[in-house]
Amino acid sequence: MIDIEKINLPASITGGCSVIAGPCSAESERQTLECARSLSALGVRVFRAGVWKPRTRPGNFEGAGEPALEWLGKVKAETGMMVATEVAGARHVEAALKAGIDILWIGARTTTSPITVQEISEALRGTDVPVLVKNPINAELELWIGAFERLAAAGVTRIAAIHRGFSSYGERIYRYSPQWQIPIELRRRIPGLPIICDPSHMAGRRDLVPHLAQMALDMKADGLFIEVHTDPDHALSDSRQQLSPAQFSQLIGQLEYRSNPTPEDIRFMSPYREELENIDLKIIRDLAERFGVTRGIGEYKNLHNLSILQPERYNAISERLVSEGKRYGLNESFIRLLFETIHAESIRCQIENNNNQQPVI
Ligand code: PEP
Ligand code: MN
Repeated sequence: MIDIEKINLPASITGGCSVIAGPCSAESERQTLECARSLSALGVRVFRAGVWKPRTRPGNFEGAGEPALEWLGKVKAETGMMVATEVAGARHVEAALKAGIDILWIGARTTTSPITVQEISEALRGTDVPVLVKNPINAELELWIGAFERLAAAGVTRIAAIHRGFSSYGERIYRYSPQWQIPIELRRRIPGLPIICDPSHMAGRRDLVPHLAQMALDMKADGLFIEVHTDPDHALSDSRQQLSPAQFSQLIGQLEYRSNPTPEDIRFMSPYREELENIDLKIIRDLAERFGVTRGIGEYKNLHNLSILQPERYNAISERLVSEGKRYGLNESFIRLLFETIHAESIRCQIENNNNQQPVI
């Protein structure tokens, strides 16, 4: 496991600033400096820009490469901002460190590859540069945690996570689904690890960035990682999701920072919390009773050689449950998901009971 004591808080990573902003890619010296100047004027203290861009399909702009490191050097010299870029291999780490890049990040596609993360970790051994690790592009928490462990084992002490959303197939509102339960579980598994949210890649569309940024703050994100371009429509990568400096400034101005509850708030909320806890305990007892009945019917099916899965019956009851849920104002997809889970468990219980064997998953 990671040694929590060794992971410093965001102040040590971003110099006390919790907003990291800049273009998806450093496209030219002029574009990089222009963007940096406008963000610096808005008070941003950490500038991001991709130098090597891992693109899903070939033929797209893959970053300006090493010359762009010099442009970031100029940003530092002129504005005094810290600069951050993505590294996708040991060679990138060496070049970025040589160029004086202050913060490195590991991209979502790289986090999925333990061998590459290991190579990057080895290249970082003996340095003290902060490293931000984006979640793997697929929704697998263990891969994300594995990357923190590899970095920590190589002696990297300043580590933070970037939650940028997870890929899914088919039509969807967000380009990458937030799956907030994953960073919540990460927080539970590694308390004290700063989690920065990247609403730009999550949204994939600039009009959705502000509300995701607010949701991230409501979920206690430790910082925001936002793509900003001086001419977003003509950006060479991720043009649909980048904000103009004016849009970024408006977004920052509109964010509501939630405060921690005071003792009085806690006193006020405590009867509600007690009631919720009692309801949750009742749900557990109801579930236990439900699965008791499940086992009974499972035994009957077994005895009479009937199949466990009876799809017509399930379809009929699930529509009834959804319409009952609607009557009480409950969210339809929540009800479907809840009962799909209960139904799956019900089948598992019957198989386990009938075979009288170790749990079947
Ligand atoms: C980026 O931040 O520009 C980037 C490429 O991110 P991700 O790895 O999240 O796709
Ligand atoms: Mn991008």
